[in-house]
Amino acid sequence: MQAIFLGTSSAVPTVERNIVSIVVGTSEGQLMFDCGEGSQRQMLYADLNPMKLKAIFITHMHFDHIMGLVGLMMTMELLNRTEPLTIVGPSGLRKMLDFFERELYMNHRYELIFRSAEPGTVYKKGEVRVEAEKSMHSTESYSYKVVQIKKKRKFHTEKAIELGIPQGPLWGKLQMGETVEFNSRTIKPEEVCEPPARPITVGISGDTAPTDSLVEFFTGVNLLIYESTFSSDLQDRAREMLHSTSIDAAHVALKSGAGYLIIYHFSERYRDVKLLESEAKSVFEKTTAARDFMKVEILENSIKVEQLKLRCAGKDADNKVGTKRGRSF
Ligand SMILES: [Zn+2]
Ligand SMILES: [Zn+2]
Repeated sequence: MQAIFLGTSSAVPTVERNIVSIVVGTSEGQLMFDCGEGSQRQMLYADLNPMKLKAIFITHMHFDHIMGLVGLMMTMELLNRTEPLTIVGPSGLRKMLDFFERELYMNHRYELIFRSAEPGTVYKKGEVRVEAEKSMHSTESYSYKVVQIKKKRKFHTEKAIELGIPQGPLWGKLQMGETVEFNSRTIKPEEVCEPPARPITVGISGDTAPTDSLVEFFTGVNLLIYESTFSSDLQDRAREMLHSTSIDAAHVALKSGAGYLIIYHFSERYRDVKLLESEAKSVFEKTTAARDFMKVEILENSIKVEQLKLRCAGKDADNKVGTKRGRSF
């Protein structure tokens, strides 16, 4: 699983940072979390194709988290998207989409599946599910958690041959964790496979003050992506606005037993976020401050951070939208 940061600034963009949006790549396709203004252009730079998005999750109805959504949907329409798109968010989002569909004549040909966010599982596709939990902000808001369970187990061919199981569908079933019958004998997957891999999980906070229920929700996540709007000297301001400081983010990571912490959603007052990163590290060492176009590969016991090579200079700047993504206009 990977997370790509398209925007990491709160409220307003800066020269270095667009406003928030994160794309999580899973075994079942790409999922977007929040869609600040300009996110679709950031996708172009990152060479991400909006047609590949399976679902978009909105944490709350503040402009910096939703103003890119309608433009992105219109682009999908112009590129002749036919695959259904799931959108999950606060119930007010449905009203906003109704308004734009009516006033902008958005007659999208693809099926739009809208689901109001609520605590529990809000999306499921194959090996991947997304859960939501209420967060604490100045409007109805949610945090999300992506859970990817790899069903296919490591298969020991020699053990299967030893047991006389013929190569074919029975091998496939055992590999997917199913018990099978062969020659009036029950064969359990454990007899020929490694135990199932542990799920890979990523938590995304959205905007929130720290809460006990979020600590519980994020328990044991491999990677926690958590907002850090302010540094610790602005703790009072953070509380008043129902946001978190870098120290708050680190405490949530520590208490929930997260593997790694990436902080994001920085106030534009911080041109350099080293202070926020070092404050968080003083509580939770395994912390990195997000940058736009940072890609984080999430493995079972580690993460790999790299900066994407952008598609924006010289010959790469050719507008390949028409040829590469389906339609010329
Ligand atoms: Zn925000
Ligand atoms: Zn907000």
